[in-house]
Amino acid sequence: MGMTRTVGPFGAGAAAPVVPLWYRRGVEPARAILHLDLDAFYASVEQLDDPSLRGRPVIVAGPSSRGVVCAASYEARRFGVRSAMPTARARQLCPAGVYLPPRFDRYGALSDQVFGVYRRVTPLVEPLSLDEAFLDVTASRALFGGGVEIARRLRREVKEETGLTVSAGVAEVKFAAKIASDLGKPDGLTVVPPGGTAAFLAPLPVGRLWGVGRVTEAALSRLRVATIGDLARADPARLAAALGDSAAAWLAALARGEDPRPVVPDEESKSVGAEETFEEDLAGAEALLPWLRGQAERVARRLRAAGLAGRVVTLKVKYADFTLVTRRVTLDAPQDDGLAIYEAAVAQLARADLSRPVRLTGVSVSGFGAGEREQLGLFAAPPPPGREKRERLNAALDALAEKFGEDAVVPASARRGR
Ligand SMILES: [Mg+2]
Repeated sequence: MGMTRTVGPFGAGAAAPVVPLWYRRGVEPARAILHLDLDAFYASVEQLDDPSLRGRPVIVAGPSSRGVVCAASYEARRFGVRSAMPTARARQLCPAGVYLPPRFDRYGALSDQVFGVYRRVTPLVEPLSLDEAFLDVTASRALFGGGVEIARRLRREVKEETGLTVSAGVAEVKFAAKIASDLGKPDGLTVVPPGGTAAFLAPLPVGRLWGVGRVTEAALSRLRVATIGDLARADPARLAAALGDSAAAWLAALARGEDPRPVVPDEESKSVGAEETFEEDLAGAEALLPWLRGQAERVARRLRAAGLAGRVVTLKVKYADFTLVTRRVTLDAPQDDGLAIYEAAVAQLARADLSRPVRLTGVSVSGFGAGEREQLGLFAAPPPPGREKRERLNAALDALAEKFGEDAVVPASARRGR
Protein backbone atom coordinates (compact mmCIF):
# COMPACT_ATOMS: atom_id res chain seq x y z
CA MET A 1 0.00 0.00 0.00
CA GLY A 2 1.44 3.35 -1.03
CA MET A 3 5.08 4.17 -0.81
CA THR A 4 7.59 5.11 1.77
CA ARG A 5 9.72 8.06 0.96
CA THR A 6 12.73 8.87 3.04
CA VAL A 7 14.12 12.28 2.35
CA GLY A 8 17.64 12.37 3.66
CA PRO A 9 19.36 15.50 4.84
CA PHE A 10 21.03 15.77 1.45
CA GLY A 11 17.91 15.29 -0.64
CA ALA A 12 15.89 12.38 -1.92
CA GLY A 13 17.92 9.65 -3.54
CA ALA A 14 21.31 11.04 -2.56
CA ALA A 15 23.54 8.73 -0.59
CA ALA A 16 23.39 9.97 2.98
CA PRO A 17 26.84 10.81 4.32
CA VAL A 18 27.57 10.47 8.00
CA VAL A 19 25.59 13.16 9.81
CA PRO A 20 28.13 15.57 11.28
CA LEU A 21 28.26 15.90 15.04
CA TRP A 22 27.34 19.59 15.08
CA TYR A 23 23.94 18.54 13.77
CA ARG A 24 23.11 16.92 17.07
CA ARG A 25 24.86 19.30 19.47
CA GLY A 26 22.48 20.66 22.08
CA VAL A 27 19.51 18.81 20.63
CA GLU A 28 16.86 17.56 23.06
CA PRO A 29 16.33 13.81 23.28
CA ALA A 30 14.59 13.07 19.98
CA ARG A 31 10.83 12.82 19.91
CA ALA A 32 8.82 10.71 17.48
CA ILE A 33 5.83 12.72 16.22
CA LEU A 34 3.33 11.40 13.70
CA HIS A 35 0.94 13.48 11.63
CA LEU A 36 -1.86 11.34 10.23
CA ASP A 37 -4.26 12.74 7.65
CA LEU A 38 -7.06 10.77 5.95
CA ASP A 39 -7.00 11.27 2.18
CA ALA A 40 -9.88 13.33 0.71
CA PHE A 41 -11.81 12.21 3.78
CA TYR A 42 -15.49 13.11 3.17
CA ALA A 43 -15.27 12.19 -0.52
CA SER A 44 -13.50 8.92 0.31
CA VAL A 45 -16.28 8.01 2.77
CA GLU A 46 -18.88 8.54 0.04
CA GLN A 47 -16.86 6.29 -2.30
CA LEU A 48 -16.49 3.73 0.48
CA ASP A 49 -20.23 3.57 1.19
CA ASP A 50 -21.31 3.59 -2.46
CA PRO A 51 -18.96 1.49 -4.61
CA SER A 52 -20.53 2.89 -7.79
CA LEU A 53 -18.80 6.20 -6.93
CA ARG A 54 -15.28 4.72 -6.89
CA GLY A 55 -13.08 6.04 -9.66
CA ARG A 56 -15.47 8.93 -10.29
CA PRO A 57 -15.07 12.62 -9.48
CA VAL A 58 -16.97 13.03 -6.18
CA ILE A 59 -17.49 16.45 -4.67
CA VAL A 60 -18.98 16.85 -1.19
CA ALA A 61 -20.41 20.35 -1.06
CA GLY A 62 -22.95 22.49 0.72
CA PRO A 63 -26.20 22.08 -1.22
CA SER A 64 -27.10 25.77 -1.48
CA SER A 65 -26.16 27.76 -4.57
CA ARG A 66 -23.75 29.79 -2.45
CA GLY A 67 -22.21 26.70 -0.85
CA VAL A 68 -18.55 25.75 -0.92
CA VAL A 69 -16.73 22.49 -1.59
CA CYS A 70 -16.06 20.54 1.64
CA ALA A 71 -14.03 17.80 -0.05
CA ALA A 72 -13.11 16.62 -3.52
CA SER A 73 -11.98 13.13 -4.50
CA TYR A 74 -8.64 12.84 -6.27
CA GLU A 75 -10.55 12.21 -9.52
CA ALA A 76 -12.27 15.59 -9.06
CA ARG A 77 -9.01 17.35 -8.18
CA ARG A 78 -7.74 16.51 -11.67
CA PHE A 79 -10.35 18.98 -12.93
CA GLY A 80 -8.96 21.64 -10.60
CA VAL A 81 -11.68 21.28 -7.94
CA ARG A 82 -10.40 22.15 -4.46
CA SER A 83 -11.74 22.38 -0.91
CA ALA A 84 -13.28 25.75 0.05
CA MET A 85 -13.92 26.62 -3.62
CA PRO A 86 -17.46 27.91 -4.32
CA THR A 87 -19.63 25.00 -5.49
CA ALA A 88 -20.71 27.03 -8.51
CA ARG A 89 -17.07 27.29 -9.61
CA ALA A 90 -16.57 23.55 -9.11
CA ARG A 91 -19.59 22.81 -11.31
CA GLN A 92 -18.02 24.89 -14.09
CA LEU A 93 -14.72 23.02 -13.81
CA CYS A 94 -16.25 19.56 -13.41
CA PRO A 95 -19.82 19.46 -14.73
CA ALA A 96 -19.86 15.65 -14.84
CA GLY A 97 -18.92 15.36 -11.15
CA VAL A 98 -21.12 13.68 -8.55
CA TYR A 99 -22.18 16.40 -6.09
CA LEU A 100 -23.28 15.19 -2.66
CA PRO A 101 -24.33 16.98 0.54
CA PRO A 102 -22.13 16.26 3.58
CA ARG A 103 -23.17 13.54 6.06
CA PHE A 104 -21.36 14.68 9.17
CA ASP A 105 -22.83 11.97 11.42
CA ARG A 106 -21.24 9.30 9.27
CA TYR A 107 -17.92 11.15 9.00
CA GLY A 108 -17.93 11.65 12.77
CA ALA A 109 -18.53 7.95 13.45
CA LEU A 110 -15.70 6.91 11.12
CA SER A 111 -13.43 9.56 12.58
CA ASP A 112 -14.09 8.16 16.09
CA GLN A 113 -13.21 4.72 14.81
CA VAL A 114 -9.96 5.89 13.19
CA PHE A 115 -8.90 7.88 16.26
CA GLY A 116 -9.66 4.76 18.31
CA VAL A 117 -7.07 2.90 16.22
CA TYR A 118 -4.56 5.69 16.95
CA ARG A 119 -5.26 5.53 20.71
CA ARG A 120 -4.20 1.89 20.77
CA VAL A 121 -0.59 3.03 20.51
CA THR A 122 -0.67 6.24 22.58
CA PRO A 123 -3.08 8.39 24.60
CA LEU A 124 -1.23 11.43 23.20
CA VAL A 125 -3.53 12.03 20.24
CA GLU A 126 -4.21 15.66 19.31
CA PRO A 127 -7.03 15.93 16.78
CA LEU A 128 -6.83 18.92 14.42
CA SER A 129 -10.09 18.08 12.66
CA LEU A 130 -12.19 14.98 11.91
CA ASP A 131 -9.52 13.65 9.56
CA GLU A 132 -6.21 14.90 10.96
CA ALA A 133 -4.26 14.30 14.15
CA PHE A 134 -0.84 14.54 15.73
CA LEU A 135 0.44 11.61 17.79
CA ASP A 136 3.43 11.62 20.11
CA VAL A 137 4.68 8.04 20.05
CA THR A 138 8.03 8.71 21.75
CA ALA A 139 7.10 6.62 24.79
CA SER A 140 5.33 3.97 22.72
CA ARG A 141 8.41 2.97 20.79
CA ALA A 142 9.57 0.36 23.30
CA LEU A 143 6.25 -1.44 23.00
CA PHE A 144 5.41 -0.94 19.33
CA GLY A 145 8.70 -0.33 17.50
CA GLY A 146 10.00 2.94 16.04
CA GLY A 147 7.94 5.85 14.75
CA VAL A 148 8.09 4.60 11.18
CA GLU A 149 6.96 1.13 12.20
CA ILE A 150 4.09 2.58 14.23
CA ALA A 151 3.03 4.74 11.27
CA ARG A 152 3.04 1.70 8.99
CA ARG A 153 0.98 -0.29 11.47
CA LEU A 154 -1.61 2.49 11.91
CA ARG A 155 -1.94 2.98 8.15
CA ARG A 156 -2.49 -0.74 7.71
CA GLU A 157 -5.01 -1.06 10.57
CA VAL A 158 -7.02 1.97 9.44
CA LYS A 159 -7.16 0.53 5.93
CA GLU A 160 -8.15 -2.94 7.13
CA GLU A 161 -10.73 -1.81 9.65
CA THR A 162 -12.36 1.12 7.84
CA GLY A 163 -11.33 0.83 4.18
CA LEU A 164 -9.90 4.38 4.30
CA THR A 165 -6.36 5.42 3.38
CA VAL A 166 -4.42 7.69 5.68
CA SER A 167 -1.19 9.49 4.81
CA ALA A 168 1.47 9.75 7.48
CA GLY A 169 4.42 11.99 8.22
CA VAL A 170 7.03 11.00 10.79
CA ALA A 171 9.38 13.61 12.23
CA GLU A 172 10.96 14.91 15.42
CA VAL A 173 8.75 18.02 15.50
CA LYS A 174 5.08 18.67 14.80
CA PHE A 175 5.14 21.00 11.84
CA ALA A 176 7.71 18.93 9.94
CA ALA A 177 5.52 15.84 10.42
CA LYS A 178 2.58 17.77 9.01
CA ILE A 179 4.52 18.97 5.97
CA ALA A 180 5.81 15.43 5.45
CA SER A 181 2.36 13.81 5.45
CA ASP A 182 1.19 16.42 2.97
CA LEU A 183 4.10 15.75 0.60
CA GLY A 184 3.29 12.03 0.50
CA LYS A 185 -0.44 12.35 -0.30
CA PRO A 186 -2.34 10.32 -1.21
CA ASP A 187 -1.66 7.03 0.57
CA GLY A 188 1.93 7.91 1.46
CA LEU A 189 4.34 7.57 4.34
CA THR A 190 7.03 10.24 4.44
CA VAL A 191 9.85 10.12 6.95
CA VAL A 192 12.04 13.01 8.07
CA PRO A 193 15.09 11.27 9.52
CA PRO A 194 16.37 12.19 12.99
CA GLY A 195 18.69 15.19 12.78
CA GLY A 196 17.53 15.94 9.24
CA THR A 197 14.67 18.35 9.85
CA ALA A 198 16.38 21.57 8.71
CA ALA A 199 17.79 19.91 5.59
CA PHE A 200 14.39 18.39 4.78
CA LEU A 201 12.76 21.81 5.04
CA ALA A 202 15.43 23.88 3.28
CA PRO A 203 14.30 23.47 -0.36
CA LEU A 204 10.59 24.00 0.38
CA PRO A 205 8.84 27.32 -0.30
CA VAL A 206 8.57 29.48 2.80
CA GLY A 207 4.76 29.50 2.47
CA ARG A 208 4.78 25.92 3.78
CA LEU A 209 5.59 27.16 7.28
CA TRP A 210 2.76 27.56 9.77
CA GLY A 211 1.98 31.21 10.27
CA VAL A 212 3.28 32.34 6.89
CA GLY A 213 0.33 33.78 5.02
CA ARG A 214 0.32 35.94 1.92
CA VAL A 215 1.33 39.12 3.75
CA THR A 216 4.32 37.53 5.46
CA GLU A 217 5.27 35.73 2.26
CA ALA A 218 5.29 39.05 0.39
CA ALA A 219 7.39 40.69 3.12
CA LEU A 220 9.86 37.78 2.98
CA SER A 221 9.98 37.89 -0.78
CA ARG A 222 11.13 41.54 -0.57
CA LEU A 223 14.06 40.23 1.50
CA ARG A 224 14.71 37.64 -1.23
CA VAL A 225 13.64 34.87 1.10
CA ALA A 226 11.85 32.30 -1.07
CA THR A 227 12.65 28.97 0.57
CA ILE A 228 12.73 27.81 4.17
CA GLY A 229 16.49 27.42 3.77
CA ASP A 230 16.75 31.10 2.75
CA LEU A 231 14.84 31.97 5.91
CA ALA A 232 17.15 29.91 8.11
CA ARG A 233 20.15 31.81 6.68
CA ALA A 234 18.55 35.27 6.68
CA ASP A 235 20.04 38.09 8.73
CA PRO A 236 18.06 38.18 12.04
CA ALA A 237 18.12 41.99 12.23
CA ARG A 238 16.61 42.41 8.77
CA LEU A 239 13.99 39.76 9.52
CA ALA A 240 13.05 41.50 12.77
CA ALA A 241 12.76 44.84 10.99
CA ALA A 242 10.40 43.34 8.41
CA LEU A 243 8.26 41.06 10.61
CA GLY A 244 8.63 42.28 14.20
CA ASP A 245 10.85 40.70 16.83
CA SER A 246 8.71 37.79 17.98
CA ALA A 247 7.44 36.67 14.56
CA ALA A 248 10.99 36.86 13.18
CA ALA A 249 12.42 34.78 16.03
CA TRP A 250 9.63 32.20 15.83
CA LEU A 251 9.82 31.76 12.05
CA ALA A 252 13.61 31.58 12.05
CA ALA A 253 13.41 28.84 14.68
CA LEU A 254 10.88 26.89 12.61
CA ALA A 255 13.12 27.28 9.57
CA ARG A 256 15.98 25.69 11.55
CA GLY A 257 13.61 22.82 12.37
CA GLU A 258 13.03 23.87 15.97
CA ASP A 259 9.44 23.41 17.18
CA PRO A 260 9.17 22.48 20.85
CA ARG A 261 5.35 22.44 20.88
CA PRO A 262 4.05 19.29 22.58
CA VAL A 263 1.24 17.08 21.31
CA VAL A 264 -1.75 18.05 23.48
CA PRO A 265 -4.60 15.55 23.75
CA ASP A 266 -7.96 17.08 22.91
CA GLU A 267 -10.18 18.48 25.67
CA GLU A 268 -13.21 16.95 24.05
CA SER A 269 -11.85 13.47 24.34
CA LYS A 270 -11.80 13.93 28.13
CA SER A 271 -15.51 13.15 28.27
CA VAL A 272 -17.82 11.00 26.16
CA GLY A 273 -21.54 11.56 26.56
CA ALA A 274 -25.02 10.98 25.17
CA GLU A 275 -28.22 12.84 26.01
CA GLU A 276 -31.78 13.31 24.82
CA THR A 277 -34.49 15.90 25.15
CA PHE A 278 -37.85 14.12 25.39
CA GLU A 279 -40.78 15.01 23.18
CA GLU A 280 -42.91 15.16 26.31
CA ASP A 281 -41.65 15.69 29.85
CA LEU A 282 -41.27 12.47 31.84
CA ALA A 283 -41.77 11.89 35.56
CA GLY A 284 -40.56 9.09 37.82
CA ALA A 285 -37.66 6.63 37.62
CA GLU A 286 -39.69 4.03 35.75
CA ALA A 287 -40.11 6.38 32.78
CA LEU A 288 -36.48 7.51 32.76
CA LEU A 289 -34.64 4.19 33.14
CA PRO A 290 -35.04 2.98 29.54
CA TRP A 291 -33.59 6.25 28.27
CA LEU A 292 -30.65 6.04 30.64
CA ARG A 293 -29.97 2.50 29.48
CA GLY A 294 -29.90 3.60 25.85
CA GLN A 295 -27.63 6.56 26.67
CA ALA A 296 -25.25 4.37 28.69
CA GLU A 297 -25.00 1.86 25.84
CA ARG A 298 -24.26 4.60 23.31
CA VAL A 299 -21.58 6.11 25.54
CA ALA A 300 -20.04 2.67 26.07
CA ARG A 301 -19.95 1.99 22.35
CA ARG A 302 -18.24 5.32 21.66
CA LEU A 303 -15.72 4.65 24.42
CA ARG A 304 -14.85 1.27 22.96
CA ALA A 305 -14.60 2.74 19.47
CA ALA A 306 -12.15 5.31 20.85
CA GLY A 307 -10.22 2.74 22.88
CA LEU A 308 -11.08 4.58 26.10
CA ALA A 309 -12.39 3.58 29.52
CA GLY A 310 -13.26 6.07 32.27
CA ARG A 311 -13.80 6.05 36.01
CA VAL A 312 -16.17 8.99 36.40
CA VAL A 313 -19.84 8.55 35.43
CA THR A 314 -21.94 11.71 35.34
CA LEU A 315 -25.73 11.86 35.20
CA LYS A 316 -27.34 15.03 33.96
CA VAL A 317 -31.02 15.80 34.60
CA LYS A 318 -32.74 18.87 33.23
CA TYR A 319 -36.19 19.58 34.65
CA ALA A 320 -39.19 21.01 32.81
CA ASP A 321 -38.38 24.45 34.24
CA PHE A 322 -34.85 24.14 32.74
CA THR A 323 -33.06 23.83 36.08
CA LEU A 324 -30.16 21.44 35.68
CA VAL A 325 -28.60 19.05 38.17
CA THR A 326 -25.58 16.83 37.66
CA ARG A 327 -24.59 13.92 39.88
CA ARG A 328 -21.34 12.07 39.49
CA VAL A 329 -19.60 9.05 40.95
CA THR A 330 -16.04 7.79 40.70
CA LEU A 331 -15.81 4.05 40.10
CA ASP A 332 -13.13 1.70 41.42
CA ALA A 333 -11.98 0.79 37.91
CA PRO A 334 -12.25 2.39 34.46
CA GLN A 335 -15.32 1.23 32.55
CA ASP A 336 -16.37 0.91 28.92
CA ASP A 337 -19.28 -1.44 29.56
CA GLY A 338 -22.84 -0.19 28.99
CA LEU A 339 -24.40 -2.12 31.88
CA ALA A 340 -21.82 -0.92 34.40
CA ILE A 341 -22.21 2.69 33.24
CA TYR A 342 -26.00 2.34 33.37
CA GLU A 343 -25.90 0.98 36.92
CA ALA A 344 -23.69 3.88 38.04
CA ALA A 345 -26.07 6.38 36.41
CA VAL A 346 -29.13 4.78 38.02
CA ALA A 347 -27.49 5.01 41.45
CA GLN A 348 -27.07 8.74 40.81
CA LEU A 349 -30.70 9.06 39.74
CA ALA A 350 -31.67 8.23 43.32
CA ARG A 351 -29.94 11.47 44.34
CA ALA A 352 -32.15 13.59 42.07
CA ASP A 353 -35.67 14.86 42.75
CA LEU A 354 -37.90 12.57 40.71
CA SER A 355 -41.20 14.10 41.70
CA ARG A 356 -40.62 16.88 39.17
CA PRO A 357 -41.13 16.48 35.42
CA VAL A 358 -37.89 15.97 33.48
CA ARG A 359 -37.23 17.22 29.95
CA LEU A 360 -33.71 15.84 29.37
CA THR A 361 -31.33 13.23 30.70
CA GLY A 362 -27.72 12.62 29.77
CA VAL A 363 -24.99 10.16 30.73
CA SER A 364 -21.29 10.82 30.27
CA VAL A 365 -18.02 9.18 31.22
CA SER A 366 -14.75 10.97 31.94
CA GLY A 367 -11.60 10.41 33.96
CA PHE A 368 -9.54 8.59 31.38
CA GLY A 369 -6.07 7.96 32.78
CA ALA A 370 -3.23 7.84 30.30
CA GLY A 371 -2.89 4.29 29.06
CA GLU A 372 -5.31 2.92 31.63
CA ARG A 373 -7.06 0.83 29.04
CA GLU A 374 -3.79 -0.76 27.97
CA GLN A 375 -2.81 -1.42 31.56
CA LEU A 376 -6.16 -3.05 32.09
CA GLY A 377 -5.37 -5.46 29.32
CA LEU A 378 -1.74 -6.07 30.13
CA PHE A 379 -1.42 -6.09 33.90
CA ALA A 380 -4.85 -6.40 35.49
CA ALA A 381 -6.00 -9.35 37.57
CA PRO A 382 -8.20 -11.90 35.79
CA PRO A 383 -11.54 -10.32 34.87
CA PRO A 384 -14.48 -10.91 37.23
CA PRO A 385 -16.88 -13.66 36.16
CA GLY A 386 -19.36 -12.46 33.56
CA ARG A 387 -17.00 -9.82 32.27
CA GLU A 388 -15.73 -11.94 29.41
CA LYS A 389 -19.26 -12.73 28.30
CA ARG A 390 -20.22 -9.05 28.36
CA GLU A 391 -17.11 -8.22 26.36
CA ARG A 392 -18.23 -10.67 23.68
CA LEU A 393 -21.70 -9.15 23.75
CA ASN A 394 -20.21 -5.68 23.49
CA ALA A 395 -18.12 -6.67 20.49
CA ALA A 396 -21.24 -8.02 18.80
CA LEU A 397 -23.18 -4.83 19.59
CA ASP A 398 -20.36 -2.74 18.16
CA ALA A 399 -20.37 -4.76 14.96
CA LEU A 400 -24.14 -4.36 14.62
CA ALA A 401 -23.95 -0.61 15.23
CA GLU A 402 -21.22 -0.40 12.62
CA LYS A 403 -23.47 -2.07 10.10
CA PHE A 404 -26.94 -0.76 10.89
CA GLY A 405 -26.40 2.44 12.86
CA GLU A 406 -26.58 3.25 16.55
CA ASP A 407 -30.36 2.91 16.84
CA ALA A 408 -30.14 -0.76 15.97
CA VAL A 409 -28.24 -1.64 19.12
CA VAL A 410 -30.19 -0.03 21.93
CA PRO A 411 -30.96 -3.02 24.16
CA ALA A 412 -34.58 -4.14 24.21
CA SER A 413 -35.06 -2.88 27.76
CA ALA A 414 -34.30 0.64 26.55
CA ARG A 415 -37.00 0.59 23.91
CA ARG A 416 -39.88 0.62 26.33
CA GLY A 417 -41.62 3.96 26.28
CA ARG A 418 -40.29 4.91 22.87
MG1 LIG B 1 -7.34 14.94 5.07
